[in-house]
Amino acid sequence: MRQSKISNKTDSFEYSYFDEKHGSGDAPPSFLEISDNKNQAKRTKQLLIAVFLLIFIAYLINSYHFHFPSAYPIYQTLMVLVALCYLVVSFGYLKLGSYIFVWLIYAGITTLILNHEGLRNPIVIGYTGNLVFAAMLASRRLFLSLCLTIGLTIVAVGLANANGWMHFVGMSFDFMIAVDLLLLYSVISYGIWILTGDLRDLVRSLDHEHQEAVIAQQKYQKIAQLDQLTGLPNRVIAIDRFNHSISHAHRDNTEVAMLFLDLDNFKRVNDSLGHTVGDGLLKTIAERLTSSVREGDTVCRIGGDEFLVVLEDIKDKTIIAKIADKILHNVALPIIVSEHQLTTTCSIGIAVSPGDGEDFDELRKKADTAMYKSKESGKNNAVFYDEEMNKDMLAHIDNVNSIREAIKNEDFELYYQPKVDLNSGKIFSAEALIRWNRNGEIVGPNSFIPIAENTGLILEIGEWVLKEACKQCKQFQERGLNDFIVAVNLSSIQFRRGNLVEVVKSALENANLNASYLELEVTESLLMEDSDRLRNQIRELQDVGVTFSIDDFGTGYSSLAYLRDFDFDFIKIDRSFTKNSVTQENDLALCEAIVVMAHKLKLMVVAEGIETDEQRIFLKRAGCEFGQGNLFSAPIPAEEFCMRFTSGDTVLLNSEASDSPLLV
Ligand code: C2E
Ligand code: MG
Ligand code: MG
Repeated sequence: MRQSKISNKTDSFEYSYFDEKHGSGDAPPSFLEISDNKNQAKRTKQLLIAVFLLIFIAYLINSYHFHFPSAYPIYQTLMVLVALCYLVVSFGYLKLGSYIFVWLIYAGITTLILNHEGLRNPIVIGYTGNLVFAAMLASRRLFLSLCLTIGLTIVAVGLANANGWMHFVGMSFDFMIAVDLLLLYSVISYGIWILTGDLRDLVRSLDHEHQEAVIAQQKYQKIAQLDQLTGLPNRVIAIDRFNHSISHAHRDNTEVAMLFLDLDNFKRVNDSLGHTVGDGLLKTIAERLTSSVREGDTVCRIGGDEFLVVLEDIKDKTIIAKIADKILHNVALPIIVSEHQLTTTCSIGIAVSPGDGEDFDELRKKADTAMYKSKESGKNNAVFYDEEMNKDMLAHIDNVNSIREAIKNEDFELYYQPKVDLNSGKIFSAEALIRWNRNGEIVGPNSFIPIAENTGLILEIGEWVLKEACKQCKQFQERGLNDFIVAVNLSSIQFRRGNLVEVVKSALENANLNASYLELEVTESLLMEDSDRLRNQIRELQDVGVTFSIDDFGTGYSSLAYLRDFDFDFIKIDRSFTKNSVTQENDLALCEAIVVMAHKLKLMVVAEGIETDEQRIFLKRAGCEFGQGNLFSAPIPAEEFCMRFTSGDTVLLNSEASDSPLLV
């Protein structure tokens, strides 16, 4: 559409006189060419009407006033010819019409001159107009021909008159009149020549600028349609091609499949190896996707590590599954970027038209939903959309909205679970664990923290938790828990996207709590990211005086290099080891090994999830300094925590008193 508009506009610049093509004689003008130059046609018609009216008025004046009947047929012929010329232009023969028009006026003026007073006839002035029309409507060659013809006519008529070869009515004639006229027309022609030359240059430069603008626009259009990194089409083109495929599918009674593809570990690659490696990975994936599909199918990138594949002309759903398998296989092949060997996988959601809808956005949403299911079911696979997923998704949206509301209404509460010194039975700190009071029902974090992390709402929740925990810690201290420490769990999202350092500092400041009373619990998987951003944040917080512990230790990754790189204070052995420490020899051996390793690295060990006295004893024997678990206390609200554990200078848990037979 836009293209055709541009070319129409270009036409309007091609005023005939300035058209070098015609003037230079490179391409001889074809008079019978049909022109769609509306602007020039309009001008020619306007001039034809004006000339027609002029001849008509002259004819009326002549017939009522001067009574030169010999001139009547000339006027009448001219009027008919002008009208015919108008018709020729109206039928689109613009060049032919313009040429006839210019020569017609010349012929009319010359005839009137020859019929009456010769060069003394005021109609001679008409040649000026004739020249202007020629300059406006016809080519440079015609203009020059007309100049010459008018000059020769004036000389010829002047000579004929002076020598008595022709006799004109009226005053006596002197050849100097012809000379004067010749000079006058030479000057006028020269003036018109210069003027039109200037106009021609102006139009040429405008035309040039216009062409450049068109090229730039086309370039920008291309840029806007392609993803700069991978060179794949973007969403706009994808929509266009999708709609195209849908109309083909209607005609051929086939299906169109949309595959929504998301890389499974892209963030980690980007965060740990940097954006250049991340970009290289995306480029290779783009190439692999393109080579995995058929010609005519569309692959486009719609965001960070998200791609859409539109498969058209599907006669059998097994073809979709085959292509999806091929994609999964090709994406999972090792990739080498800047000397790093990477392996990545992807999760694919598939929606098929017409079954799942015919609208691009509708299908994309459904493919997206299926992709999430694919992630949930372990990643690196392809899942077809079904209606059940939609219900799940609606429930998910409902949950997200409810979490948003809960943040606004501060419907969250912190429960506290003590950490106990296994040797003295003394409690020295408590872990703050969030609960959601959802219409009176207390909901645990596992059912909403993952959603909050996916939607970024964890940033607001995390900020609230830090503020609240610091405030509460201060209160615990004021109510008798001397040097009491509060531990807060952090999400990796808070390190990646939030301004964690500021948030922590402001929470401490707000509660007037010394930083050494705040402990932050981070998971192993976060530390595996090993990005500069993460290191800097941890270091900055450690410089302030905040302590760190590694939560759920043993459940994460196999590399322990981070233990050397980060200078932490505590390791919290995951409760899965604690649970089996009594019954499974291997688990006890693991606990012992973790403790030895931790002590060598000057880290203290907390055993999580201690539920029985037996476990407590085994873990104490294994060398764990601290314990946490339902044996001592389940997580409880702050007020209850205060009532139970602030009964004097030394807080001892009943069953852990040093004289207890269980304490060995
Ligand atoms: P976590 O940090 O490992 O917390 C310990 C979890 O183990 C808590 O579950 C606690 O109630 C449970 N637990 C403690 N002792 C025992 C026991 O003896 N037996 C059993 N079976 N379980 C025990 P909870 O409160 O449901 O928290 C689950 C996870 O949610 C936490 O694991 C933590 O990763 C996360 N979480 C809790 N609060 C927050 C928060 O404020 N922010 C963030 N980002 N995550 C939080
Ligand atoms: Mg924890
Ligand atoms: Mg834990």
